[in-house]
Amino acid sequence: MYYPEEIIEEVRQKNDIVDVISGYVRIKKKGSNYVGLCPFHNEKTGSFMVSRNKQIYKCFGCGAGGNVFTFVMEYENFTFPEALKQLAEQAGVSFPKRNMTRRQSGR
Ligand SMILES: [Zn+2]
Repeated sequence: MYYPEEIIEEVRQKNDIVDVISGYVRIKKKGSNYVGLCPFHNEKTGSFMVSRNKQIYKCFGCGAGGNVFTFVMEYENFTFPEALKQLAEQAGVSFPKRNMTRRQSGR
């Protein structure tokens, strides 16, 4: 199945990475970022960083990192389409039907 770029982008924009990750991991605001214990490796000090500005996460302990899709894929062991579907549902984004005509840009 083909996922249009604009749908992926819409889903990404409507799922703030901090909101999504804080649903799985306890993260605390630290400066302009959020920090918590990494869900991808065992640790006692928080080296897992989430940036709301950049919409990315990064672990300085094990090197895991990526965007909101990568996080859900790695955490849930999802494929990209599964992660996209879950995040789309959470954000209320509907996928266009296969035969839907391309909407004309009204601009
Ligand atoms: Zn880690």
